[in-house]
Amino acid sequence: MAKRDYYEVLGIAKTASDDEIKKAYRKLAMKYHPDRNPDNAEAEEKFKECAEAYEVLSDSEKRSMYDRMGHNAFEGGMGGGGFGGGFSAEDIFSQFGDIFGGAFGGGGRGQQRARRGSDLRYVMELTLEEAVKGVKKTITFTAPAPCDACDGKGSKNPNDVETCKTCHGAGQVRMQQGFFSVQQTCSTCRGQGKIIKNPCNKCHGSGVSDRQQTLEVTIPAGVDNGDRVRLTGKGEAIRDGQSGDLYVEVVVREHDIFQRDGADLYMDVPVSIADAALGKELEIPTLDGRVSLKVPEGTQTGKMFRLRGKGVKPVRSSMQGDLLCRIVVETPVNLTSRQRELLKELQATMESDDNKSSPKKKSFFDRLFD
Ligand SMILES: [Zn+2]
Ligand SMILES: [Zn+2]
Repeated sequence: MAKRDYYEVLGIAKTASDDEIKKAYRKLAMKYHPDRNPDNAEAEEKFKECAEAYEVLSDSEKRSMYDRMGHNAFEGGMGGGGFGGGFSAEDIFSQFGDIFGGAFGGGGRGQQRARRGSDLRYVMELTLEEAVKGVKKTITFTAPAPCDACDGKGSKNPNDVETCKTCHGAGQVRMQQGFFSVQQTCSTCRGQGKIIKNPCNKCHGSGVSDRQQTLEVTIPAGVDNGDRVRLTGKGEAIRDGQSGDLYVEVVVREHDIFQRDGADLYMDVPVSIADAALGKELEIPTLDGRVSLKVPEGTQTGKMFRLRGKGVKPVRSSMQGDLLCRIVVETPVNLTSRQRELLKELQATMESDDNKSSPKKKSFFDRLFD
């Protein structure tokens, strides 16, 4: 099924402001929210579609990529940041939890949403080889982790943590306003659901403290700039809640020889005038060692040769790309007197053959003097 245009999904103009995007998304998300449409697969699909559109259009960088390249900008779908993962409703709840606030009463889900740590981002720089072949890397970063002094409880003595009497631990209280029953954050415990009588010295009751963490991250083969690997639960930890996720975002360093464009690699191959004129079998590098490239007689600068299957297999694709070699004929420099002599001889013979050996030059001057 063809993917719908993100602007169309949200029912907004291409020129919509950030505020309009947010408003349109909120309206649709409320309408299709699974809490309001239990067991309605169509509504859930719509909900995911909106969330995906919103994720892209609310991010100025992604939005401008989308404006330029359409859905191609995010080959294989956003996948909620993971690889080929696709959105699950829970992902969306956590990602967009802040927008919903307490709008959906009742349901344990609403509270779970409120009690989740932030997602964190770690930027990982890779060489082209690492990105193409995949790599395991150890990363070290500092992030809020459950406090080791109180085991994340906020108090050394578990008896010093009491359930809030106002909200009975819910963190929210229900108020009646006309037809609607509205939930508000409990003011006694400030939404925590608990009162800590004797807070832990180390974390002052927050249950978390910054800690240096070391993780091994497996980067799959074929990643490119902007791809993200999600490490579930390795983001910000919070007391009595679910930890956020850690996203490792890939940045690929520039390569001396190869430029990558999706599945294909490009390279310039310098060739001497003699090799270009007479033809030559060259040894050229690929990411998997050297291969031979046959440069035929009379090859011009700019000529492209395609080596099938010598490119990259992108992480979300099963197709192996190609290596495109662009020939650059190099004018000889630092000539010896012998080389100079030979070239002069060549020059003389070329001039006397009515430019048969330089057909482009011939037609250029013919037109010029016509
Ligand atoms: Zn503590
Ligand atoms: Zn309370």
